[in-house]
Amino acid sequence: MTKQLKILVIEDEESIRELIRYNLQREGWRVVDVRTGEEGLASLRSISTDIILLDLMLPGLDGLEVCRRLKRDPATAGIPVVMLTARGEESDVVAGLELGADDYVTKPFSPKVLVARIKAVLRRRQEPEAIRGELIRTGRVVIHRGKREVRVDDNPVDLTFSEFELLSLLASRPGWVFTRDRIVEAVRGDDYHVTDRAVDVQVVGLRRKLGAAGSLIETVRGVGYRFRE
Ligand code: CA
Repeated sequence: MTKQLKILVIEDEESIRELIRYNLQREGWRVVDVRTGEEGLASLRSISTDIILLDLMLPGLDGLEVCRRLKRDPATAGIPVVMLTARGEESDVVAGLELGADDYVTKPFSPKVLVARIKAVLRRRQEPEAIRGELIRTGRVVIHRGKREVRVDDNPVDLTFSEFELLSLLASRPGWVFTRDRIVEAVRGDDYHVTDRAVDVQVVGLRRKLGAAGSLIETVRGVGYRFRE
C-alpha cells in the first residue's frame, strides 16, 4: 500500500478551502485545513504533513511571514510549500520563492492545475541529485554538462558561458520558476558581472540560438523565467 499523502491547507476563505479539500480528497489525499497562519504553525507541532498550501493574504500573520517561520524552523524547513496567491501579488510571489517556497498557484485556479502542481512539486523533491547532474534531457534539448555541449534536435548549439549556465539551470527543473536573483546567483561567471537586466538580455540571445526550441524558455511576468514542462 502506498503512503497516503497528507496536505496542510492554510487559507482563510471558506469557499476556497472547501474547493481544495473536495478536490484533494478526491485524489485520495488526507487534508487538514486551517484558517490562519498561527493555527497552521501550531498544528505542525502535533501533526506531520507532506506539503503545505499557503494562502498569502491571511488575517494575522500573513503568508510570507508564515513561510519565513516555516523555513527558519529546522523541524518544518524541509516541507514543500505551494503558495496560493491573488493576481497582483507578484512581488509577494517573488519574496515567497526567495524564502524557499517551491511554487505558487494564482487564484482563481483550476483544481486540476492545483493537483498537477502538487504532484510536480513532490516529484521534483523525490528526484535524486544525480538526475539533475551531468546529462539533462528534456524533449528536443539535450545538455551535457560534462562536455559543456547543447544539442537541439541533435544539432549542436554554440553558447557562451553564461548562456550555457542559464539554460542548464532552467532545464534542470522544467516548470520551476527561477527569479532573476536566483538566476544571477547561479549564472554569475568569473569574467563579468551579471545583473537582472543582463539576465533578460541573455534570455533573448539564448532563445535566438535555440531556434524553434527557444520558446521552451518562458517568461513569467514580474517574476523570472522557467523552462516549459
Ligand atoms: Ca486570503
